[in-house]
Amino acid sequence: MKLLVTGGAGYVGSVCAARLVESGHEVVVLDDLSTGHADAVPDGVRLVEAGIDEAIGGVLAEGFDGVLHFAAKSLVGESMQDPAKYWHGNVVTSLRLLDAMREHGTPRLVFSSTAATYGEPEQVPIAETAPTRPTNTYGATKLAIDHAITSYAAAHGLAAVSLRYFNVAGAYGRFGERHGVETHLIPIVLQVALGKREQVQVYGDDWPTDDGTCVRDYIHVVDLADAHLRALEHAATGEHRIYNLGNGLGFSVRQVVDACREVTGHPIPADVAPRRAGDPAVLVASSERARTELGWKPERVDLAGIVRDAWEFTRSLQGA
Ligand code: UDP
Repeated sequence: MKLLVTGGAGYVGSVCAARLVESGHEVVVLDDLSTGHADAVPDGVRLVEAGIDEAIGGVLAEGFDGVLHFAAKSLVGESMQDPAKYWHGNVVTSLRLLDAMREHGTPRLVFSSTAATYGEPEQVPIAETAPTRPTNTYGATKLAIDHAITSYAAAHGLAAVSLRYFNVAGAYGRFGERHGVETHLIPIVLQVALGKREQVQVYGDDWPTDDGTCVRDYIHVVDLADAHLRALEHAATGEHRIYNLGNGLGFSVRQVVDACREVTGHPIPADVAPRRAGDPAVLVASSERARTELGWKPERVDLAGIVRDAWEFTRSLQGA
């Protein structure tokens, strides 16, 4: 297929673009490089360096079989302080994309959604049938886009799939996570191992979990990317399908820090800090629907293995 990857110079987008190219697809990346990196675009892939708002019509006029839409603002804290950036940057921009796809007859969409659409869970593991009550603006904007996709699919025959990611981690060779502002646990812990931070702050050790620290579902970015390839194949005209993507295995903050110690050989000092606002105690996915309907199964479920790939990538950036 000929596919447009928005945000293909970012973390998940670049890994996905690389896997798509390896699977024989023709890929074009549209990215304004506001948070992405030009050198994260896989070899042989054309990069259109522009925003969706100004460029999407011209690009889709070339004719595409589908769009994988990763381009988004994705910092939870920032979304609370500057909601306009998120409502415009995520929702308005995605509506422009949907309208352009309609105008140019682009048949398929795979959308990068998030577990943040669910908010504080009533039950874990979280299934797609769980209530959607986002507790932050970021999650609210992603949920709004999901709603828009549902109605465009029903009314205009779009074949759409939303993938709701849990905690994406790991790397794929030279494609990995490098954010200007880092808020995610594993990259932060690895920065301590690299000597770029003195210690990691553990946000609370009095949660109702086995060791008192929060539990999350870390999914390897390559497993995640492979779900996108399957989603493309399973997208059905006029339908909007939604799948949660996680390992189904929860790891606590302490377990993550221990895995990083084991992989890096660094003592990684950790201090307990107050709880972070908006953090639920436990977020673990049920990916049963993706397993059954997409035939997808995460293969890289070992936490140390996930951390090892992230560590190799992080060190390669330092030229270590
Ligand atoms: N966390 C932490 N210290 C940090 C960053 C994160 O203790 O410096 C915790 C955070 O409270 C959460 C887990 O690690 O329980 C994962 O956080 P992250 O920001 O990576 O992902 P989130 O689950 O918020 O999407």
